[in-house]
Amino acid sequence: MIVNCPDCNKPLIEFDIGSGNYHCANPKCNFQYIEIMSGKQHRKSITVEETGSEFDSLDRKPKRILVGLAIESSLLNMGHSIFDKVTSKLREDYDASVFDCLDNPQYLKRILDRNFNKNVGEVVVKSIKTVLGEFAYYESVREFLHHLAEEN
Ligand SMILES: [Zn+2]
Repeated sequence: MIVNCPDCNKPLIEFDIGSGNYHCANPKCNFQYIEIMSGKQHRKSITVEETGSEFDSLDRKPKRILVGLAIESSLLNMGHSIFDKVTSKLREDYDASVFDCLDNPQYLKRILDRNFNKNVGEVVVKSIKTVLGEFAYYESVREFLHHLAEEN
């Protein structure tokens, strides 16, 4: 299914196949994402003006999903055993999932540091960076990548 941005007319990208949330990857475009199921549209400036203090949580939600999916796909590329280990450690140690990692990059970092050799951790971080590279114009994504790359 191809959905074009109502503002800039570029094809929208679905966050996760089947999620029904399509976002515009054009950094100059004001359009953020559309929820296909409800038809609800989210725009950068309108979100800020109309929702005021709710802006942060609304604005961060799609980025949590984005970062979570980037982590998932990077882990899966490394193999199912690594994926299983990291996701179960997130749950056991922090009662968290990959979707909590935007707000808590240290969770993922600690799990990688403690449970895998340095090379594995580096490859995972590099892969996440590659996947998220085109979204680094979002400050929250940039911050996440920055924290992930920090030395202990
Ligand atoms: Zn657009």
